Amino acid sequence: MNSNVNNLGQQYSVFSQFMAEIRDVDIQQDSMRFRRNLERVGEIMAYEISKKLVYQHKSVTTPMGVSECSVLQEQPVIATILRAGLPLHQGLLNYFDRAENTFISAYRIHHEDDDGFDVEVEYMASPDLQGKTVILCDPMLATGTSMVLAYKALLERGRPAQIHVAAVIASEQGIRFVQDNLPANTTIWVGAIDKELTSRAYIVPGLGDAGDLAYGSKE
Ligand code: URA
Repeated sequence: MNSNVNNLGQQYSVFSQFMAEIRDVDIQQDSMRFRRNLERVGEIMAYEISKKLVYQHKSVTTPMGVSECSVLQEQPVIATILRAGLPLHQGLLNYFDRAENTFISAYRIHHEDDDGFDVEVEYMASPDLQGKTVILCDPMLATGTSMVLAYKALLERGRPAQIHVAAVIASEQGIRFVQDNLPANTTIWVGAIDKELTSRAYIVPGLGDAGDLAYGSKE
């Protein structure tokens, strides 16, 4: 894997506890905890991504004097693929609390005669993105198709200067597809990288269907 991939699950930290709970078929039964754990992963990713952003100096007046501080030069735009990305989005927004927001709908239309599927991008609500830093998030980076189609849809609103891709669990194939199709300066942030994809493009061991676990079955 290229050096632009940051796998936050590789270090021992409380992050690993959240990842274990997100994957656990018993703990998943508590959908509020599942959503909150995705949000906590988003919060930790926001903190890690924030180390790569640009800061400016600010003199801040306290009740006791003046403190020389560093503040973000500009807020990123958080761009999320509906619907499974919403808790991750909220976690990122908890830390980048002045960020602008983009929402994109992308869903799989499964073929009736085989295991294949097409991804349909239908809706986007977005501010201007020209020259901005965009954090593009989707909890499951499986084939990478939704992520790449979402990126192409974003370009209708301008060309971002920098893209950070955030996913809770990625497949090796999904990471390669993003690396091959997004700009070379893209940085990828994941909580884990799993090796396998099923014939219906679910990550193994993964966690199952993130959207259904967070918000209920679509059927
Ligand atoms: N989307 C999911 O929710 N889970 C996967 O494993 C792959 C895509």
